[in-house]
Amino acid sequence: MEILGNGPVLTFDAGNPFIECGAVAHESGVIVQVGESDGLRQKYPEATFRDLKGRVLMPGTINCHTHLYGSLSRGMALKDPPPTNFVEILERLWWRLDRTLDEEAIKASAWVGLADALLSGCTTLFDHHASPAAVPGSLDILEDCFRQVGMRGCLCYEVSDRDGPQVRDQGIAENRRYATQDRGDQFRGMTGIHASFTVSDETLDAIAEAIPGTNAGVHIHVAEDAADVTLSREKFGERPLRRLESRGLLGRSSLVAHGVHLEEAEWQLLKERQSPVIHNPCSNLNNAVGALEIEKLRDAGVTVGLGTDGYTASMLDEYAVTGIVARHVAGTPGAGWMSSLDLLTQVNPEIASRFFSRPLGRLAPGHWADMAVIRYWSPTPMDATNLGGHLLFGIARAPVDSVYLAGEAVVEDGKLTRLDQQELFARARETARKVWERF
Ligand SMILES: [Zn+2]
Repeated sequence: MEILGNGPVLTFDAGNPFIECGAVAHESGVIVQVGESDGLRQKYPEATFRDLKGRVLMPGTINCHTHLYGSLSRGMALKDPPPTNFVEILERLWWRLDRTLDEEAIKASAWVGLADALLSGCTTLFDHHASPAAVPGSLDILEDCFRQVGMRGCLCYEVSDRDGPQVRDQGIAENRRYATQDRGDQFRGMTGIHASFTVSDETLDAIAEAIPGTNAGVHIHVAEDAADVTLSREKFGERPLRRLESRGLLGRSSLVAHGVHLEEAEWQLLKERQSPVIHNPCSNLNNAVGALEIEKLRDAGVTVGLGTDGYTASMLDEYAVTGIVARHVAGTPGAGWMSSLDLLTQVNPEIASRFFSRPLGRLAPGHWADMAVIRYWSPTPMDATNLGGHLLFGIARAPVDSVYLAGEAVVEDGKLTRLDQQELFARARETARKVWERF
């Protein structure tokens, strides 16, 4: 057993959110007890003690929607004129990029994205992968990278029709193969779909047929831009969500990314099916597709979680923007304070806990010991009532000291413990040059 103690503990556990001088005792990857630092040391005198020296201990954050495959685009010039709408962003950037990815590039992209995420205090990623030139086995390649760096993951391949029937069928088979095999405690598989407007009825039927026996819900972009809705109606005669619903693809383990252009009647359907909408405000604003009114969806009973869509690696950055965007779209400075905190600290842990063998995302007994230590020494009083203010204006901007995955330190003193980040990034730069040439 090991105890991390002698620092402020933010538990994200609603019943016991904050301990001023707290500690977490963990053993075999699982949290045994959370409490006062002195009390736990007395109770478990044989345990190894790690002194936080006043640094903040909190759960590792959870990113419910991202794309590691995009990591090598940083600084890359487009070869077409700048996009003027969302579909052109896909055509001129992401769909050109993902076609360049071979095994070497899949690995390099993953390492960069995973390292950035881990070093920001994130310990679980829901990744949505695309590499049309290298589909079979791509989820195993990704899983290896997650293991090498030390991250928990829920993986899927984004099926679409845009690269022809062979690649489409490879995507469906890759999801099924990956999700039906036992992935242990660290991984889960889902059924990835790009978006309604890039999958025909025939493709959706084939996906629905492939799912039984996998227990894997779908992970799909829905109504991210108005084009998904208009093109789905033009091409297939129905709105995106209805196409999923009619094939039984919604449910507690299906993730609906974005949902910016959903109608109120569709909120009701999501509530009934208990399918979470994953909000990605940075990406939505960056793509100028609009912004989700999270408080209206929450008032309607929809579960709203939080992801980054690959725009940033840090869930704390995304959290900081979530509240600002909520205030902007609601047109009132009172909006978004509690709801944005709730997405990060309550809803994301609840969503992720649906997928893994133990609950996670909170510091509470029986949960996976996925934790982050932040170099934050509060300059103002901190207690259970004002944690949002400290997260937003302090902790989100403070350096990450160490990160634990199932009790093992995968970041120590701001550095990855399993791999050399400088060496990894130097290799990634070489791979990125090749990707940019092929782009
Ligand atoms: Zn996305």
